[in-house]
Amino acid sequence: MIAIEGIHKAFGANHVLRGVTFTVEAGEVVCLIGPSGSGKSTVLRCINGLERADSGSIRVAGQELGDATLPAIRRSVAMVFQRFNLFPHRTVLENVVEGPVHVLKEPRAEAEARGRDLLARVGMGDRADEFPMRLSGGQQQRVGIARALAMRPQAVLFDEPTSALDPERVGEVLQVMRSLAEEGMTMIVVTHEIAFAREVADRAIFMDGGTVVEQGAARAMLTDPQEPRTRLFLDRVL
Ligand code: ADP
Ligand code: MG
Repeated sequence: MIAIEGIHKAFGANHVLRGVTFTVEAGEVVCLIGPSGSGKSTVLRCINGLERADSGSIRVAGQELGDATLPAIRRSVAMVFQRFNLFPHRTVLENVVEGPVHVLKEPRAEAEARGRDLLARVGMGDRADEFPMRLSGGQQQRVGIARALAMRPQAVLFDEPTSALDPERVGEVLQVMRSLAEEGMTMIVVTHEIAFAREVADRAIFMDGGTVVEQGAARAMLTDPQEPRTRLFLDRVL
């Protein structure tokens, strides 16, 4: 579903990605872990075209990312951010139907019906007409996930979706992600929630200094990493 090969990215003199290569199969859940500044967010942003890699190739569902394919790929790969980025002056439901109505050109009634279904799926069915400000961080993030799903994505990229939440709100968001994984969604999840990664992810990728240091089956790698740098990182975050 996603194949990235040898991507490099520099911001000025800061060579952030130094030849990153990995693939994600359809229906696979891959956790991307690594220290702050290792380039995890930049990888996700390159995959959905928010940043342009300097070299290397990115393919999504068989299409190579480039000027011509960027709009379609950006639509088919949804992103869920650490900060939920909901529109504050629009209701929960309006936030969810914005993309389907304006980008996918779905009839509003149809988009709203599906939006309500998606909100129910993330446990927010009774809050459709609320404004985001009146919701907890965990509830806003669940709306953020519903909004991502409303675009009918082929894959969802999560960038530290629980890092901004109060600890008691983390579980409800992980639960939504777990059920999404069980339904077969293709997901890349940047997270420091190692227990979640071990349990839910098929594969784990450890990045440091802009390169993939180690990757493997999530449970094995996150329990018994082979690379000293991975081990050091896991010892620090666990
Ligand atoms: P991570 O998500 O692993 O913490 P990032 O991909 O956010 O790492 O950042 C990697 C490096 O790239 C950092 O040094 C960061 O300062 C730099 N960086 C990221 N985005 C930009 C940008 N838009 N402009 C300049 N530097 C950036
Ligand atoms: Mg990041």
